[in-house]
Amino acid sequence: MEILHYPHPALRFPACPVRRVDDTIRRLVREMTRLLSEHNGLGLAAPQVGYPYQVFLMRLTRENYDLQSVQVVLNPVLSEFRGSVEEDEGCLSFPGLYQPIRRAKSVRLRAFDLEGREIDRTVSGLEARVVQHETDHLHGILFIDRMSETARLASRDLLENLTRQYLEAQRSGKIPSEKAIVEQLQELASRQGAVVAAARVGERV
Ligand SMILES: [Zn+2]
Repeated sequence: MEILHYPHPALRFPACPVRRVDDTIRRLVREMTRLLSEHNGLGLAAPQVGYPYQVFLMRLTRENYDLQSVQVVLNPVLSEFRGSVEEDEGCLSFPGLYQPIRRAKSVRLRAFDLEGREIDRTVSGLEARVVQHETDHLHGILFIDRMSETARLASRDLLENLTRQYLEAQRSGKIPSEKAIVEQLQELASRQGAVVAAARVGERV
């Protein structure tokens, strides 16, 4: 597993809610924790490693990288956006790119953790920024979509460079074709969906 860079199509594929925390989800979280620490990031969303599931990790202290210090967030729903603040933001899928992005100052986060416990709290400051950035990822929204015209213009060369690298990797066979990637994402998404269908049938019986 590795962190996918823009413009990999997995970054634009809407993630499906997690219906059941199974071995796939647990393994995914373990791998994502490793990558988050390796890359010294504050947050990482499942689509960034090619899994279309509503899962993200966040970490607000840079000292500890064990599972306990990482908050695992499943199926987040944001509401009560308050205030507005512009600050520099980066993303592990856009190495080297930092631009000011406007975000709500505080936001209410409702979600679940890996043990199925409910999360319901209002977050602010850097935490609010990370929560909004990562939740965007789960809907296929990237921070470049929220940039001002000026910031976008300033990012143009770097984005073109990333696109060139992506196409080269695809040509050399290191990255599968667009069609193969989308098929793989659909297959992964249907796995969580298939679990739901089976569980519902069971419930009715
Ligand atoms: Zn990101």
